[in-house]
Amino acid sequence: MKTIAVELAYFLRGRARQNLKVLVLYCSFLLAIIILYAFLFQYLMLRLEGREFSIIASIYWVITVMTTLGFGDITFHSDPGYLFANLVTISGVVFLLILLPFGMVSLFLAPWIENRMRYRPTKGVPAGTSGHVVICGLDPVTRTLIRKLQAHGIPFFIATPLYEEAIRLEEDEGMQVVFGDPSEAEVLQKLRVETARCVIANLGVTEDINIILTVRSLCDTQIITLVDEPEHAQFLRLAGANQVIPLKKILGRYLATRATTQGALAHVLDSFGKLLIAELPVHGTLFVGKRLADARIREQTGLAVVGVWGRGSFAIPDRDTVLADDTVMVVVGTREHLEALERLTGEKAEEDLVLIIGHGRIGCSAATFLDSRPVPYILVDRATNPDCSEHIAVIGDATSRTILEGAAIDQAKGLIVTTNDDGANIFFTLACRRLNPHIRIVARANREENVDQLYAAGADFVVSNASVGANILMNILENKESIFLSEGMQVFRYPVPASMDGETIATARIRTLTGSTVIALERSEQKEPTILPTPDAVLSQDMTLILIGSPEQEARCREKLH
Ligand code: ADP
Ligand code: ZN
Repeated sequence: MKTIAVELAYFLRGRARQNLKVLVLYCSFLLAIIILYAFLFQYLMLRLEGREFSIIASIYWVITVMTTLGFGDITFHSDPGYLFANLVTISGVVFLLILLPFGMVSLFLAPWIENRMRYRPTKGVPAGTSGHVVICGLDPVTRTLIRKLQAHGIPFFIATPLYEEAIRLEEDEGMQVVFGDPSEAEVLQKLRVETARCVIANLGVTEDINIILTVRSLCDTQIITLVDEPEHAQFLRLAGANQVIPLKKILGRYLATRATTQGALAHVLDSFGKLLIAELPVHGTLFVGKRLADARIREQTGLAVVGVWGRGSFAIPDRDTVLADDTVMVVVGTREHLEALERLTGEKAEEDLVLIIGHGRIGCSAATFLDSRPVPYILVDRATNPDCSEHIAVIGDATSRTILEGAAIDQAKGLIVTTNDDGANIFFTLACRRLNPHIRIVARANREENVDQLYAAGADFVVSNASVGANILMNILENKESIFLSEGMQVFRYPVPASMDGETIATARIRTLTGSTVIALERSEQKEPTILPTPDAVLSQDMTLILIGSPEQEARCREKLH
């Protein structure tokens, strides 16, 4: 049954689908001709022979004559009648017995047979292949990863037990696919897992465990897997996974750090040793409307502003950059520097209030993170979360204004929109922006293509599940430590190459060559990194550069800085 369905599905794809439209048009034409002949028959019989026939009988006559069956129970008895019957027979032969079968064979049967003969699921990864990535399970995360792998020229193979998916990926998308169940040793051998760079198991926890156990019985290639439920991580690790990524938990944390407005330490995204990277909204601080030089943040706190975000676009600031109300600064510094900023602004995390719409796994993880700061928050969901006994949510549909008002939308300073429905997320963003124009809105995009719409709806920050997931996977694959800021920006490390030894940052032309900016210099024996070094800082080979830039700019570093 499944095979029949798969074969039938062939007729709904690509050229076959176009041909199907031609067939439908042709059948409509045949139907029109039959009806036209039936009315002519009725008319001629009445006029020539004075006999009356119903329309059903007329259609019956036309079909028996067109198909050359000719039962002979109804016949004309006059020359004009015979002529008409001849015309119907000849058009029947041409349209029904010649053109229709010919069309069926050339438009459907021949291409289908050709397709069947041509498509053989790839036998396996070619001998001698190594360093490839094996992907088991396609979803928006692995699809985004594939685009990155293609951009970096890293070979990858997709394993799928679904014949239809194998054909579609190979034929329509030009990917390299191995058809078969990746939890079978035979299939994994075809995929040459033993020489692979890594295996990504992304088919759901039970199937992933099977894949991991089989890979481990063959070799010790690196295995990375994504989990929705953090408590499943231990089983996957026990089975032999090297890296288990609790993506939803990480996403919750990402959303939470960005939705808080008070207290610099609550905004720390990540750290490179002693160096903390934080994103601080300008709104509500004493810096609103000031030029960066006049804000004197560096002089007063030691923190360096290395980037500014304005509704989805990132820029490297200079002395004249104006810190607008909706600007978010990316700052680097130590814990002491951030504390100094907190003292300067007099903000306290406890004075914040964040509203979270959606108490799924991501919303729950955001709430747990806010608990740890501690930042006060209110959760809203239309149902109670059966897996969470820690948080209590306001129950109700957040599309209702009364529910939002009951959840203090007018007093909240930050808002996290995290339902699994992007359409609803866009609606909440629009509605809440209207109800509270100054609220800081951080929204989750379940699909990459909705990121722009969420920004257009008024979100200050959009976190896309797919790109966060793909970035984490890529960082692990490339063995690098980097901090993912938001769509397309990251902080990363790069060792000073031998050729730059003795040069200064200016003469090494790092910015010109790569587009990325040096935000700090680390030296092995020096405890504290030099934050935002001046262009005349001298580089030496024992130093590591900490840079900020897009993934493309990072790739250019690898290309240009040897
Ligand atoms: P995840 O686990 O990925 O965070 P879920 O699908 O489990 O995603 O969670 C989405 C949550 O959003 C669910 O708990 C759902 O009840 C909630 N939700 C969806 N639409 C609305 C709405 N209109 N109002 C309130 N809550 C909503
Ligand atoms: Zn919870």
